[in-house]
Amino acid sequence: MKHLLLVGAGHAHLYVLKKLQRQALSGVRVTLLTPNDHQYYSGMLSGCVEGIYSIDQIRIYVGQMVERAGIQWIKDTAVSIDPDRKTVLTSQGESVLYDAVSFDIGSLTSGVELPGVLNYTETLKPNYRFPVLLEKVRSAENLVIVGGGVAGTELSLSLQTWRNKNGKKPLSLVSTTALMARGAPYVSQRVQNLLNHKGVKLYLYQRADQVMKDRIVLAPSNEEIPFDALLWVTGPRPPELFTKSSLSVDKGYLLVDKTLQAKHYPSVFGVGDCIKIAEEPPLAKAGVYPVRQAPFLWKNLKRFFKGKPKRRYQPHFSFLSILATGNREGLMLYLGCAFHGRLVWLIKTIMDRRFIWLYSHQTPANDLMSNQWLKRIGLTLVAILVVGFAYLFFTTTYHPVMSMMASLIFSSIFDFAFALLAIVLVVILVIVLFLERLSFQSSTRDQSETTTSCKRR
Ligand SMILES: Cc1cc2nc3c(=O)[nH]c(=O)nc-3n(C[C@H](O)[C@H](O)[C@H](O)COP(=O)(O)OP(=O)(O)OC[C@H]3O[C@@H](n4cnc5c(N)ncnc54)[C@H](O)[C@@H]3O)c2cc1C
Repeated sequence: MKHLLLVGAGHAHLYVLKKLQRQALSGVRVTLLTPNDHQYYSGMLSGCVEGIYSIDQIRIYVGQMVERAGIQWIKDTAVSIDPDRKTVLTSQGESVLYDAVSFDIGSLTSGVELPGVLNYTETLKPNYRFPVLLEKVRSAENLVIVGGGVAGTELSLSLQTWRNKNGKKPLSLVSTTALMARGAPYVSQRVQNLLNHKGVKLYLYQRADQVMKDRIVLAPSNEEIPFDALLWVTGPRPPELFTKSSLSVDKGYLLVDKTLQAKHYPSVFGVGDCIKIAEEPPLAKAGVYPVRQAPFLWKNLKRFFKGKPKRRYQPHFSFLSILATGNREGLMLYLGCAFHGRLVWLIKTIMDRRFIWLYSHQTPANDLMSNQWLKRIGLTLVAILVVGFAYLFFTTTYHPVMSMMASLIFSSIFDFAFALLAIVLVVILVIVLFLERLSFQSSTRDQSETTTSCKRR
């Protein structure tokens, strides 16, 4: 029997596990190698720090997915790979042989080589440490966040909202550049205004020069900021695993072809933050990419074991991004446009909750963009067109019996259709209000419950 080894429980591997729940790979046994019981959904971390979601609402239980997929789980971390011998070594010294291996291990946090960072700061990666981190940042009187990218900005907005509600001092945000400098300048200005409005102390165009046990020194200003907790969110760096192997890398990231297979080693697959696609500009390190790559990975793994040609993944560089900005408001960024408000938050919360729901329940791994849904939408449109044409045909006929029958049939069809439409709209409205109410309830329960659920762990 062949062996497929999945390393890491990132977004794309969750999809593969979901698929395996419904469709086993014949003649292939599958193993997941990952150290974490839970996979935290990064899109909901900010909502959790603000107290809108509890810890359980933002994570997927990996053990349950493994059990449902009927595969083996090695609860450990991969430390090296030998692609010639087709083995992966774990931190506990186990050597795992594979016929095909797939890496979805995310990225690490950059800048940790600065003395003091590893000892005195908190990083969000790996994100299964999130509950411990949450307690530390919540209990801190003086909180500093270093990193003004999307993650640092979003967390500052959410944490400051929580601090304002709980009578805590303003937090400090340090950034070497303007905020979210990779985006348009007006977006940067917009988030800066939002942070100012919430009371965050901004230290822009400053870098952390020295990190000590209880304070940070900035350069070039030489200012010192005392802290009880320092959150280090300075952007991604590659996992160390690939550089130590004979696999091709690009700045430490696993170099893969569009089939998501490593250069010269077709039995090694890679997805998400940990890869670089050859001959393409680097993709943003965002969860949306492993989500888009997941169906290609699944198909290509199946094709690999069947010896069939692989499908090619063509990356798209634009994607919808929604940041939580606190108080159930969101900032939507798409194709250079920005929208801000409660409606944006509502869209975000529905999408995020849907992701968690999809992977926590035994449902098909289809999403709205899958073929099955497109087929359903297509069939509905065809049905509407057929009825429309039939209506036009019969109502324009001069035959008295035909036109009488047509008015009878079609008036009732259209009455029915309008009634149905009204019911559907009411149902959608009720769902939306229910979700809002749910969010509201969890928010009023929030802080104490969230903290206790962290403590329980
Ligand atoms: C605060 C914050 C907010 C964010 N918000 C968004 C957002 O709203 N939208 C968005 O698109 N992106 C967002 N991102 C970025 C997003 O989190 C990452 O791009 C995404 O999680 C990468 O997904 P992945 O599947 O590559 O890996 P990950 O989701 O990072 O998963 C990696 C998995 O591999 C495991 N693992 C790691 N190393 C090993 C190893 N050596 N051996 C075995 N297992 C290992 C980990 O434990 C984990 O289970 C955010 C990031 C942060 C920090």
